[in-house]
Amino acid sequence: MTTIEDRNAAEFIALDERWSTHNYHPLGVVITEGEGAWVTDVQGRRYLDFLSAYSALNFGHRHPALVAAAVEQLGRVTLTSRAFHHDQLGPFCAELAALTGTEMVLPMNSGAEAVESAIKVARKWAYEVKGIPDGRAEIVVAGSNFHGRTTTIVSFSTDETARAHFGPFTPGFSVVKYGDAEALREAITERTAAVLLEPIQGEAGVIVPPDGYLARARRLCDEAGVLLIADEIQSGLARTGTLLALDHERVRADLYTLGKALGGGIVPLSVVAGRRDVLEVLKPGEHGSTFGGNPLACAVGRAVIRLLETGEFQRRSTELGAHLRARLGELVGHGLAEVRGRGLWAGLDITPGGLSGRQASEALAAKGVLCKETHGNTLRVAPPLTISREDLDRGIDAIAEVVGR
Ligand SMILES: *Cc1c(COP(=O)(O)O)cnc(C)c1O
Repeated sequence: MTTIEDRNAAEFIALDERWSTHNYHPLGVVITEGEGAWVTDVQGRRYLDFLSAYSALNFGHRHPALVAAAVEQLGRVTLTSRAFHHDQLGPFCAELAALTGTEMVLPMNSGAEAVESAIKVARKWAYEVKGIPDGRAEIVVAGSNFHGRTTTIVSFSTDETARAHFGPFTPGFSVVKYGDAEALREAITERTAAVLLEPIQGEAGVIVPPDGYLARARRLCDEAGVLLIADEIQSGLARTGTLLALDHERVRADLYTLGKALGGGIVPLSVVAGRRDVLEVLKPGEHGSTFGGNPLACAVGRAVIRLLETGEFQRRSTELGAHLRARLGELVGHGLAEVRGRGLWAGLDITPGGLSGRQASEALAAKGVLCKETHGNTLRVAPPLTISREDLDRGIDAIAEVVGR
């Protein structure tokens, strides 16, 4: 996408290529500023952000209330380590527990760390409370899952690209087909500690499971005395129109992993939140993180909680999402094979024989709209929940021009 007059952009891209490992394949856009739903590149061109950093920017770029909270905390104290108490951790955990209806919070940084932490907690709970023989616990996960990039987590990925040559892998996981409650029932044994699921699979292409699947998973876990862990790192925090995606099914998890938007697009901040009697298995020295629950992250997280308490973003996601899917739905049979999603979050399958996802992303960027393919010919659309209806329509118009037939 880079042309001769884009010297600046080309130089930045060349530096990335030369000095940064090649573990991503970004579009040829070099962003230097962001505000709300818009970003500006080094040439001064403006783009609508239709990806929101995979839902880490649910409140848009530099939301004033979040920036203000960060700036205020920067003027006070940013890091203490957990060797000492500080005055943001307790309030953050208490306020998050109240918001999410949970009883205890374990703060970490990245999403992968939250999932790792949930796995450790579930295993320890299985040995110390449920009574599974030490070293024998199993966790049931779903095919096409995405839970992060650590060695343990890629051990149970079904994406060969994410796994190849990263073994030996961590044992203790069994993989069943996503959305298939019978398969889940058959996979649960007396050695099962937990079932780990995304309520909607984001990276897989915004896959919404069949109605009743999550409620059935809850019942199966209850019957077998197994923990249900909901990875809401991408689906949670208003993205689907409710605080948590599980809320649509009136299902409660025993443990939730949250991340991405929890840090307001400013700092990495993740948590495991859930049942006290489960999280209480952790004792001093058994788990931790130097930056986990730091004052700056907690202060931003508290400002995020205040935004979510208003319900405004959940409402916007529901209303704008209905509009988004209605308009994209008109393209089914006219360039799109399928549109899935919930709230302001959609996966679009381009009709086979049309553009690849990559080509469509590049064509959209040329029209001033940034989004990204997930697999092959699937595009994921997740604008900031702060986007105006006009800007949303502008982005949808561009999608219609690029994929419409
Ligand atoms: C992004 C994501 C993760 C991993 O989060 P990182 O912050 O990238 O480590 C885990 N689970 C889900 C569902 C995600 O979308």
